[in-house]
Amino acid sequence: MQTLSSFVCGRWHEGSGEMQALHDPTTEAEIGRCGSGGVDFGAVIAHAQQGGAALRALSFAQRGEILKALSVAIYAIRDELIELSGRNGGNTRSDAKFDIDGATGTLAAYAALGKELGAGHHLPDGPGIQLSRSPRFWGQHILVSRPGIAVHINAFNFPAWGMGEKMACALLAGVPVLEKAGTPSAMVAWRTAKAIVDAGVLPAGAFQFLVGSTGDLLDRLGPMDCLAFTGSSRTGQQLKGHQNLIRHNVRVNIEADSLNAAILGPDVEVGSDTFNAFLTNVAVDMTQKAGQKCTAVRRIFVPRERLADVVGELVERLRAVPIGDPNESATRMGPLASARQFADVRQGIERLAAHGKLACGGTDQIRDRGYFVAPTLVVMERADVGVVHDEEVFGPVASLLPYDGDAAALVPTVNRGDGGLVASIYSNDRAFTDAMVFGIAPWHGRIWIGSDRVVDQAMPPGAVLPQTIHGGPGRAGGGEELGGLRGLSLYMQRTAVQGFQGAVAKSFGSGEVAPT
Ligand code: NAP
Repeated sequence: MQTLSSFVCGRWHEGSGEMQALHDPTTEAEIGRCGSGGVDFGAVIAHAQQGGAALRALSFAQRGEILKALSVAIYAIRDELIELSGRNGGNTRSDAKFDIDGATGTLAAYAALGKELGAGHHLPDGPGIQLSRSPRFWGQHILVSRPGIAVHINAFNFPAWGMGEKMACALLAGVPVLEKAGTPSAMVAWRTAKAIVDAGVLPAGAFQFLVGSTGDLLDRLGPMDCLAFTGSSRTGQQLKGHQNLIRHNVRVNIEADSLNAAILGPDVEVGSDTFNAFLTNVAVDMTQKAGQKCTAVRRIFVPRERLADVVGELVERLRAVPIGDPNESATRMGPLASARQFADVRQGIERLAAHGKLACGGTDQIRDRGYFVAPTLVVMERADVGVVHDEEVFGPVASLLPYDGDAAALVPTVNRGDGGLVASIYSNDRAFTDAMVFGIAPWHGRIWIGSDRVVDQAMPPGAVLPQTIHGGPGRAGGGEELGGLRGLSLYMQRTAVQGFQGAVAKSFGSGEVAPT
């Protein structure tokens, strides 16, 4: 039995008082515990001030070098993390790599951005602007590091990537972080944090790590601090409504649930490259990490005349997925991460199945022990069944929805998800694709288009890449992360500097001038 510690105020702190248990979801055995009792959150914030000052004194290039070193340090314990990810998370080797390589890859991508940005400490934001009749009176927007702490509250499903992608942006922006792990998979986060601390490349106070509750931390945040949260909509709303965060206008970024859609275009022939990519991606999305991916497809829209073909092919693929102990090499899908997830997903399946027909899967127990659920596909009669558009079942579960008609008719139904992280469109018909994109873009953070020209090269829609933004409106939380340099803006203040062109352009400018 292992007790996990937090890394606060420059030392490892073992929690006192009430502890939370960590389990192996394959055996249900208790394998560890953690808690944050005794952490002095006032001291945590004071310690971060020291880290912030040191980070701000470094150039972007120097911060980038640190990120590169962290990526290397995490990669060096990859095998250990893969093993832990199976034991305290139920992840297969491939699922674990998706998380861990996502973390090292994102840190490396931001390291490269830091190198490109070079010796500076601020970012010019757009071109200089002539503000009066002569160019003497000049304006320039700039982004500067905010002297606060970035509190990152992470979900259980990506313990390495979630922490890595958030801290990459904050540290490159010159802001110190406190990373709180999602409890069910805290061992992977803790071991990753230990590698970060042991690397010894970050200034004191730039990185702190928490297991267990946030105590009175949120009551202590001020105007220069920010909170970036990933998790359920319910917790996100609770945090957004936190009185102290409202009082001080603390920046809050929420990444939450999403009823991601996959849309098969009416033009796609059975057996074509695009049709096969659609089936492959949907089946992978439903079963990778046992469907516990914020970007996993939950709603599959299929032209009514293709329904029978899609059901047949998809069920065959889903039934062929070997389920079992994630540490065994033949296993392709492990258990859900926790007892709570297991109970929630089974209840969710029951609610969906009450409105449609189970094509495969369901709530039957498939092993004596462990939180295992079979890949479950529910076929609905119509696309407008309310529960499908209201409820995220965070497991290997999706609904198949037939549609009639064209893009204009389909758009409002897809948008009933109330705001999503990603929608994927499979079509070679430009008119259909364009109409779908313009119709659903306001409701989605990312749209992925699969066609014969690209499906052999494209990363699947479930993959979140550092170059493009991650986040979505409405139910998805209204947040935005990553997207290259865009990811830094949560941690930086945009300020308009106005004055004599000779001084403003020279000290703060990008060298570009806005057209007048
Ligand atoms: P959760 O229960 O909302 O928990 C998320 C995080 O918030 C955990 O670290 C949790 O800590 C913490 N937390 C819970 N209540 C809190 C409170 N009152 N104050 C401060 N922190 C609090 O969600 P989850 O079960 O971990 O994650 C699954 C959900 O996350 C799914 O709905 C999924 O869609 C969503 N998700 C979204 C994204 C995205 O990028 N949009 C990515 C991944 C997951 P404890 O674990 O210690 O309770």
